[in-house]
Amino acid sequence: MAENEKETLVRADHVKVYFKGKSRKDGTVKAVDDVSLDIRKGETFGVVGESGCGKSTLGRTLIRLIDPTDGHIYLNGEDISKLKGADLKAMRRKMQIIFQDPSACLNPRRTVRQILMEPFEIHKMDKDQDVEARIMELLQLVGLDSYHLSRYPHELSGGQKQRIGIARALALKPDLIVCDEAVSALDVSVQAQVLNLLQELKQKLGLTYFFISHNLNVVYQVSDRVGVMYLGKMVEIADYDQLYEKRYHPYTEALLSAIPQVNQEDRKERIHLEGEVPSPTDPPSGCRFHTRCPKACDRCKAEEPALREIAPGHLVACHLYDA
Ligand code: SF4
Repeated sequence: MAENEKETLVRADHVKVYFKGKSRKDGTVKAVDDVSLDIRKGETFGVVGESGCGKSTLGRTLIRLIDPTDGHIYLNGEDISKLKGADLKAMRRKMQIIFQDPSACLNPRRTVRQILMEPFEIHKMDKDQDVEARIMELLQLVGLDSYHLSRYPHELSGGQKQRIGIARALALKPDLIVCDEAVSALDVSVQAQVLNLLQELKQKLGLTYFFISHNLNVVYQVSDRVGVMYLGKMVEIADYDQLYEKRYHPYTEALLSAIPQVNQEDRKERIHLEGEVPSPTDPPSGCRFHTRCPKACDRCKAEEPALREIAPGHLVACHLYDA
């Protein structure tokens, strides 16, 4: 089946996430501003962008760890944006998250066994007959052994801690896993091992990932499709192959030019973006990228470009490609 014929697992429809500042003077942070996308069953949808662009907020909103301010989120066609109480808890079994810092998200006072038992306790499944066998299975899936069960997080390496974080996310057999900078805190050699493990698990268990990283190189290694975010907006979405072949948005072009290339013929002149990322409390008018875009014109300052399909499956928000 072609990638674009796969069934949609999650759909974000004009999702906005605004946070109010502590005082009126602080204004409203428009962390995610009118983002629409589909995540297809069995794919890895990678999201890349500079820190503060809203990618982590988007990932957490898709799995309802953060409430959307506006818009809708669908899981297997069901609108989950307003779920509360028991319905929300039941839905959470299907969507899990792996965090960036495994040290911060594992309780230091609990053993590995107790940590892996947590999801079963939360969903009142810890007395189920097969829970012990399931914990052993989880350990094996992430390449650890039974003797790790009695260890505390401080007795594990960074890579082992992240493997426990992955095992915990897998415990309830979710459909979607949000990987939020899941390898960013690890050494480069360990990063590769954990990325390989995530790929193996995806194949073996038929998982779908929403893979968030500030590092386009890492996103490229694992993604079937890639979304590029800038200041709360999705500015380009395309298949991995399409984006590698041809990217249209000037921001994507600049991000890609920063990836070191081994082959001489693949090397491109690095595009240095001027200036800082503007504040999401007071984003620039028109195209949000116009204050840093080397190709900006007057229209860019006044009119916001819509995200539109300019080649099959390739969406771009930029006036340069208006018909
Ligand atoms: Fe640059 Fe204008 Fe395109 Fe925005 S719309 S990316 S400012 S050329």
